[in-house]
Parts: sequence; structure tokens; C-alpha cells
Amino acid sequence: MPDTTFDVIVIGAGPAGYPCAIRAAQNGLKVACIDEWKNRDGTHAYGGTCLNAGCIPSKALLESSELYHRAQTEFAAHGISVGQVAFDVATMQKRKAKIVKASTQGVASLFKAAGVTAIQGHGRLLAGNKVEVTAFDGKKSEIVAKHVVLASGSVPMELRSVPFDGKDVVDSWGALDFGAVPKRLGVIGAGVIGLELGSVWRRLGAEVVVLEAMEQFLWMADQQVAKEALKHFKKQGLDIRLGAKVGGMERGKDGITLKYEDASGAKAVSVDKVVVAIGRRPFTKELLGEGTGVELDERGFVKVDHECRTGAGNVWAIGDVVRGPMLAHKGKEEGVMVADLIAGLVSEVNYKVIPSVIYTAPEIAWVGQTEEDVKKTGRPYKVGTFPFMASGRARAMEATAGFCKVISATDDDEILGVHIVGPMAGELIAEAVLALEYSASTEDIQRTIHAHPTLSEALHEAALHADGRAIDMPNK
Ligand code: FAD
Ligand code: NAD
Repeated sequence: MPDTTFDVIVIGAGPAGYPCAIRAAQNGLKVACIDEWKNRDGTHAYGGTCLNAGCIPSKALLESSELYHRAQTEFAAHGISVGQVAFDVATMQKRKAKIVKASTQGVASLFKAAGVTAIQGHGRLLAGNKVEVTAFDGKKSEIVAKHVVLASGSVPMELRSVPFDGKDVVDSWGALDFGAVPKRLGVIGAGVIGLELGSVWRRLGAEVVVLEAMEQFLWMADQQVAKEALKHFKKQGLDIRLGAKVGGMERGKDGITLKYEDASGAKAVSVDKVVVAIGRRPFTKELLGEGTGVELDERGFVKVDHECRTGAGNVWAIGDVVRGPMLAHKGKEEGVMVADLIAGLVSEVNYKVIPSVIYTAPEIAWVGQTEEDVKKTGRPYKVGTFPFMASGRARAMEATAGFCKVISATDDDEILGVHIVGPMAGELIAEAVLALEYSASTEDIQRTIHAHPTLSEALHEAALHADGRAIDMPNK
């Protein structure tokens, strides 16, 4: 007879749900985690969007395509000749699939090691903290727990005028699975997915047009960083068209014609494949039964407070299905916090210090406030920047694009934001995240010894530059 009573039931085993289940088990609680993810071949896998169709497969293809691109464009400068560089999409896809499988099987092993009861199927919250489980064969059963955590994630938003067909007009999952390089690729949305997946296929030879509705490029990023990144993306051949509002599509002899309007009037562009990447929406389909008391907001997110309590009994919600940035690490921290709060421990998520990374080349990463944010507050501030061009390590790596930028308060020297566009920005930002977490001052980074020669010296020098004390470049 299987267990039907738990301390905690988590619905969803993505990067929010599975860490929550594991931490709750570490806290000595009896935990079940239900997940319904199905791969295209019908198999089930834990790990949600992130492991199966998001963070991990996209980074696998970004790495392969970047290596191909660098072999073509950089090896000669190192004195390495490799003749004609070629690639095989099928091998790249096989490698990606292997990485995904290792990651998702890893979650199943972690569940086992932690003693989490992993259940495959659909979970629906009923009144009284009961959960109806529908197995893949349609069989229904009920389990119950003191606490239920909703972690059902998100799905791609659709564009009514350019509907998905699963073949030529696809979402990000479809674009990760192309079996051949499209000759002409249209990307709708110059957000994180549009830029990452546009880069993958551009590096492999596709002509990529990115249509972005906003006039401003990467509105959420520091605009000095956004401008620098745009310059490099254009150089790489990404045809990014801003202020382009897509109104429809037509299929014809010349493939798919996307119709859009920008400031100068009606325009059209013909492509062979289209990726629609205009954002994601919370996924709550058949998640809530009658009388649970859980409320959704006007955009469909499960309503929660700052500790992820829904306000309905002991029901919590975490990850993409609640407010805040749709990022795997944000969901993970919420999952861990909720599991600790359930166990009576003190915990919180510092929402002000969530890093963002865009895995393009150059990478873009930031934490804290942008210069535009700080300006709006009226607080006096100082800015230090340091270009990778002046970094010995970056020059040795043939990766001199971009810069580090540190924004700090003039009154008490507190670091308010750090913005990096350049090589390994996603790794370098970790130091800045730690600095902001500890409310560090610019002087703290200035006095911290950075190994030489490393890329991290650029952050050190940017902090020094904020006070006109940079060593490796002239000060303002
Ligand atoms: P999900 O990962 O969506 O997991 C939810 C799980 O719950 C799924 O398995 C789903 O099948 C299951 N589920 C839903 N409803 C039920 C139900 N009723 N019963 C049972 N199971 C259910 N973020 C980053 O931080 N870094 C990146 O580099 C990054 N890259 C990305 C690249 C792409 C192409 C995409 C699409 C996303 C990327 N993201 C990235 C975003 C990241 O994937 C999400 O923020 C993250 O997966 C959200 O985690 P989650 O656990 O809330 O939801
Ligand atoms: P996004 O919100 O990052 O970007 C969507 C873009 O589409 C925006 O720039 C928006 O202005 C534009 N847009 C919206 N409607 C449009 C229209 N009709 N025509 C043209 N442009 C339009 O969303 P995304 O790129 O789809 O990514 C979804 C989520 O996944 C994001 O929240 C992101 O945080 C997450 N993600 C994160 C990473 C990462 O951390 N590296 C990678 C991929 C995805």
C-alpha cells in the first residue's frame, strides 16, 4: 500500500519544486513531489523546463555553436590552422540530449538519496490540502499533506497573429530541436530567449532577423551595457529591428512572410522558420480544484506574499508561477526558503540581489540597480568602468569586447549595481552578488585582492575607477 499522507507535497519538479522537496526532506519532513513533464518521445523526466527545454539544452547548443564560431574566427590569430571547419547538427543535438538526460536522471537520483517520494503524473490541489494525482494511465488517487507547495512553472506565450504550428513556427523548445540550420530564421522578441537562440543559429550560418516591439534594446538592462551588446550582436550579423510590431504572417512560395510595422510604416520580411519568443506565462492548467482558496492575479500568477504564502491554509507557491523574474535560481531560492519556513527555520529570499545573465557572446550579467534606476531615486552616485580591452587576461583570451561597470552611492560608498558585458560575465557577476548580499562598499572590492591575470581584475579596476584610482587605465 503506497503512502498517502505526507508533511509536504510539492507539485512540479522544475528548478523551484525539486530543491524545495529535497530541502524539506533534509529538514526531516516526509515529502512527495509530483511531476507531469513529458518529452516529445512520450518519456517522463524530472527537472521541468530548465533541465528539459530551457537553461541546460540552450547552454549546450550555445557552447557548441560558440566553439564552431571561434574556430572559424579566432584560431588563425593563435597561429592554429584547422583547414575547413565543419559541423554536424545531429552530433550537436545528440550531445545536448546526453547532457539533458544526465541532468534529469540526476534529479531522480537526488530524490532517491533524500528519501523524497517521486510521483509521475498530474497533481491538482483540492480543498483541505488534499492533492488529486492522475497517473499517466489515467488512474486517479488522492494524497494529503500538512503543506502543499505549488511549483507548476510557466509556458511560452503565444502570438495570435503568428500561431505555433510545431514545425515552421515554433517556441523556444522547438528552436532548440531544429535538425538542420534554417537558411533564414525569423525571431519575434529580442529578449533573453530571442538573443540566445538567435545567436546559436546565427553562429551556425542562418540569416537571423530579430523583430522586437520595443524601441529600446534590452530595456531591463543598464542602457550603457545594452548599447555595447547591441553593437557586438550587429557585428555578428544578427539583424535586430527595434520598434517592429508584428501584425501577421503569410505562407507562400518565398516561405513565411512576417508582416510588421515600425516607425517608418508597414514592412515585411520573408523567412523559412520562425521562433516566437515574446515571454512566458504562468502555468496553472487544472492545478486548482474547487474551494482551495488560492487566488490568481490579473496576469494569471498565483498570488503570494514575500514569503511565498498563498494565504490559503498551508499552501505555498514558488518559481515561475509566482511574481518576480522567471529565473531558475530565483525559483530555487524560493523553494529552499519555503522548505525551511515549513520546518520552522528562519529564511528569506533577498529579491534585490537576484543576478541576471544572458549567455550571448559577449555575455551580459548584472545585479542590483541599473544607472537608469539609480538616477530615478535621486540618490547621488558614482560610476566606475573598466574595459576588457585593458585586461591582460582578456587580451590573452582574444576576448576584449565589453566592460565592467560599478555603480555606488556617493554618500556611504554602498555598491548599488554591477553590470558586466564581456567574457564570462555570468561567472564574474557572482563576486558582485556576494558584495551586494553583504551590502559591501566600493572600498571593500577595492581592498579585495584579485588574482592576476584574471578577468575578475576588471571588476576590481572598475571599483577603483569609481573613485578615480584605477591603476591599469587612465582615470577620468
Ligand atoms: P518549470 O521549470 O516550468 O517546472 C515546472 C514543472 O511542473 C514542469 O515539469 C511541469 O511539467 C510540472 N507541472 C506543471 N503543472 C503540474 C501539475 N499540475 N502536476 C504535476 N506537474 C506539473 N533561467 C535561468 O535562470 N537561466 C537560464 O539560462 C535560463 N535559460 C532558459 C532558456 C530557455 C529556452 C527557457 C524556455 C527558459 C530558460 N530559463 C532560464 C528560465 C527557467 O527555465 C525557468 O525560470 C525555470 O525553469 C522555472 O522553474 P519552475 O520550477 O518554476 O518551473
Ligand atoms: P523576455 O521577456 O525576455 O523577452 C520577450 C521580448 O519580446 C521582449 O523584449 C518584448 O518586448 C518582446 N515582445 C513581446 N511581444 C512582442 C511582439 N508582439 N512582437 C515583437 N516583440 C515582442 O521573454 P523570453 O525571451 O521569451 O524569455 C522568457 C523568460 O525566460 C524570461 O523571463 C527569461 O527570464 C527566461 N529566460 C532566462 C534566460 C537566462 O536567464 N539566461 C534564458 C532564457 C529565458
